[in-house]
Amino acid sequence: MSFTLAIVGRPNVGKSTLFNRLVGKRLALVDDQPGVTRDLREGEARLGDLRFTVIDTAGLEEATDDSLQGRMRRLTERAVDMADICLFMLDARVGVTPSDEVFADILRKRAKYVILAANKAEGRAGEAGALEAYALGLGEPLRLSAEHGEGMGDLLHVLMPLA
Ligand code: GDP
Ligand code: MG
Repeated sequence: MSFTLAIVGRPNVGKSTLFNRLVGKRLALVDDQPGVTRDLREGEARLGDLRFTVIDTAGLEEATDDSLQGRMRRLTERAVDMADICLFMLDARVGVTPSDEVFADILRKRAKYVILAANKAEGRAGEAGALEAYALGLGEPLRLSAEHGEGMGDLLHVLMPLA
C-alpha cells in the first residue's frame, strides 16, 4: 500500500527543496497548461525502498500581504485533506513564529497524521529552534537538512511503519 505525504509550512522553510530531493525529475504532469500558476505540485517520491506520492504547497510566496492568511489557509487545508500524512516543516534556525502557530493549528484540527520537521538543521545548527518546536505539542521534531540531505534516514524510519 502506498500513501500521500503533504509538505506544509510557511514560505521559505525549505518545503520545495525537500520535495525536489524526494521527487527528482519524476514530476507528475497533472496539468501543464502554460501560464497557469500551480499552487499544489504533486510528484512520485522515492526514499530508500519506499515509493509514495508527495504534495508541495507552493504559490504562497506570490500572495499579497492582504490575501496571504486566507490563501495560505485554503491551500494548506486542501493539501492536508488530500494527504494521509503531513510533514509540517519549520526553519530550525528561526524557531517557532506566529505564522508557524497558524499552521500548527490547522494541522492539529485537520491532519490525519503529522510529522514535525525542523529543517536547515545541518551540522547541528538550529538546535535551539528544534527544541522550541517541542512546545507545539506535535511530538519530537525530526532534524532535517533538505538542502544537504541530512536526516533522510530518520525520515525513512518514521515513514516506514506508516506505509
Ligand atoms: P519553501 O518556500 O518552503 O518551498 O522553501 P524553499 O525550498 O524554496 O527554500 C527556501 C530557502 O531556504 C532557499 O534559499 C533554500 O536554498 C533554503 N534551504 C532549503 N533547505 C535548506 C536547508 O536544509 N538548509 C539551509 N541552510 N537552507 C535551506
Ligand atoms: Mg516552495
